[in-house]
Amino acid sequence: MVTMRIVERPEIKGRHVQCISCGVNTRSHVLEIAEYEEYEEVWEDDEIEEYQARKKGSQEEDEEENIVIRYRLHTEQTCICHTCWLDKKAKAVKFLNKNKATWLEEGAIHLTRIKKFMSSWNYYHFGQELEESTQEDIDAIKNALLGLGEEE
Ligand SMILES: [Zn+2]
Repeated sequence: MVTMRIVERPEIKGRHVQCISCGVNTRSHVLEIAEYEEYEEVWEDDEIEEYQARKKGSQEEDEEENIVIRYRLHTEQTCICHTCWLDKKAKAVKFLNKNKATWLEEGAIHLTRIKKFMSSWNYYHFGQELEESTQEDIDAIKNALLGLGEEE
């Protein structure tokens, strides 16, 4: 038995899954990408895009020329619906506005909390279509983290 690789396939949109927050079926905002397990099959057939295969390279042994690499879903993607995403984003921006002055003045004291905030911010991809003032605040906090020797 050959151990097959686990791979990500970002070109595949993936199935609708339950929103992590409200449970509605969605694939609006992908938070964690699905993982697929590669396996080998010796025949070809029609299949849906998600499981489409590639052939083993021609440089492989002759006896393997008919082997096809296929994919089975290993870990489902994690998604949040747009409504919940907007709601969480609004809360994050509110939290940012409430704390930004303190964070910028006393970054070293609040380092753990700032890093957790930025980690969640990045996880949800909130950096899209920001109001200019929010973008400036985020940039200021990233710069402050860099000043403290912390990669964001
Ligand atoms: Zn939702």
